[in-house]
Amino acid sequence: MKTPIRTCIVCRKSAEKSSLLRINYKNHILSVDKKGNKPGRGAYVCNNVSCIKKITLKNLNRAMKDNIDNKYNYIIENLRNDDMDN
Ligand SMILES: [Zn+2]
Repeated sequence: MKTPIRTCIVCRKSAEKSSLLRINYKNHILSVDKKGNKPGRGAYVCNNVSCIKKITLKNLNRAMKDNIDNKYNYIIENLRNDDMDN
């Protein structure tokens, strides 16, 4: 079986899907998809602080092909503040 490859929306580096963090977007709500199998659009980011810190709404808008409401921006802040070991 081929390993799925995805691209980080921040640094544009390609990596195995399993090594990236998936951000899910459904019904105008962003969430972190730790198992990587939620329905909806997904964007991938390297699972490291340097890329997570650089996620912007612009990155996400491009990845989700939508204009994400600013009020949901808090998910990005949550991600940035998240303990990466969780
Ligand atoms: Zn990256």
